[in-house]
Amino acid sequence: KVRVRFAPSPTGGLHLGGVRTALFGYLFARQHQGAVVLRIEDTDQARFVPGAEEYIQECLKWCGIAPDESPLHGGEYGPYRQSERKERYRAYAEQLVADGYAYYAFDTAAELDALRATQPNFKYSHENRLQLRNSLSLAPEETARLLAEGHPHVIRIKMPAGETISFNDMIRGVVSFESSLVDDKVLLKADGMPTYHLAVVVDDYQMAISHVFRGEEWLPSAPVHLLLWEYLGWRQDMPQWAHLPLILKPDGHGKLSKRDGDRLGFPVYAMNWQDPKSGDLTKGFREMGFLPEAFVNMLALLGWNDGTDQELFSLDELIARFSVDRISKAGAKFDFEKAKWFNQEWIRRTATHELAVHAASILAAHGVTDTDEHYLADVLDLVKDRLTLLVDFWDQASFFFRRPEHYDLQAVLPKWNEEKTAFFLDMINKLENFDPWHSAELESFYKLAINASGMKMGELMLPFRIMLVGGKFGPHVFDIAALLGREETVSRMKQALT
Ligand code: GLU
Repeated sequence: KVRVRFAPSPTGGLHLGGVRTALFGYLFARQHQGAVVLRIEDTDQARFVPGAEEYIQECLKWCGIAPDESPLHGGEYGPYRQSERKERYRAYAEQLVADGYAYYAFDTAAELDALRATQPNFKYSHENRLQLRNSLSLAPEETARLLAEGHPHVIRIKMPAGETISFNDMIRGVVSFESSLVDDKVLLKADGMPTYHLAVVVDDYQMAISHVFRGEEWLPSAPVHLLLWEYLGWRQDMPQWAHLPLILKPDGHGKLSKRDGDRLGFPVYAMNWQDPKSGDLTKGFREMGFLPEAFVNMLALLGWNDGTDQELFSLDELIARFSVDRISKAGAKFDFEKAKWFNQEWIRRTATHELAVHAASILAAHGVTDTDEHYLADVLDLVKDRLTLLVDFWDQASFFFRRPEHYDLQAVLPKWNEEKTAFFLDMINKLENFDPWHSAELESFYKLAINASGMKMGELMLPFRIMLVGGKFGPHVFDIAALLGREETVSRMKQALT
């Protein structure tokens, strides 16, 4: 049975790359009728950030890729927070020591810091472990004494020297590592907490995970994990790994970092994230006016395509079409303009009644609350194609809900004259009785009147628009008038003339 997990550490908001990892795992699991597990990797207490776990869960929900098993909803392989599984890890670390694959190390943090200070490339490894303070270098009685006296210690993996460690990555094919180059990673810390390396292997095993999707930055840890699967006797149950390509800065130079967003003016987080310590707010795609469908579609194409030119995919289509074979090995450039294009397309494809929910909350944020449902739907149908971000709705449509407060006088005054005033006063009279109040009829009626006046079309069209909306923007002016209705149109004309 396919069981995929997303295993973030609750250290802050969820970055694009994290959501993409969750998404690819989700697509794979759904395609294979498998289960999606959310596991919170919170063994590093120093990096724990309150609120981050809730943020992660809400973010997955917003994206429509909520897990089947999680700390919030439980499941038969729980608990799903590593801090709540603490007791399980020590026994395995001790077993590794007993079997000769790991050892106790008593070096204090101060001792190791001193070594790092003199040797910038210091690594605890097969080369120097016999010169350091651990159960491999000390006499057995000395080790027993230190343990009995309760001296603080960690458990480290004993990396073999001179072996080639290989595995078959779902994306990269066979990947090999020289074991001599890998240091003796800590498995169990002095506080009794496991490190990521031990916990990730024990949990993937105990949670019966079949496939692991994770970022390329974890590839260097793979040889350690692989040996742990082997040393713990679980090699035949080891999940298949897929290390996803990096997401690169727009110019392709280097990995997209959390800081790039602020610097380059686009979001890198899924939703707004407020750091509880500094209070700093990092803007998210959701609050910037992205639809989740667009966000997910854009993410899916960062490093994957279906082999055709198709770019627009719903989540269901992605589930049907996704294939690991088509994930690229090379990094994927993030392009904010392209992200906006996806959003624009998704706004067009989204049903008006769904957009209305967003539009209503944008209006409410500007103090407009008593909006008629049908009127709002008509307005949306008219401006939908002009929106790139949902929040653009205000700029594109506020005049449907509020009279213009300012007029672009520059655009009309230089050419204004008595004749025009007379035309509009007469037009107001005529419109007060004009029927039917529909865009096309209004347009031909208005144009006939212009022809009869002997003035030019352009000279009388722009002022009409400015009277209704305040400036040189908005959809077709007769569509606007039709929607505003007779009373409002006429009254705006009167207001503008005075
Ligand atoms: N806890 C790791 C992270 O924060 C998970 C890495 C993995 O998926 O193995 O990304």
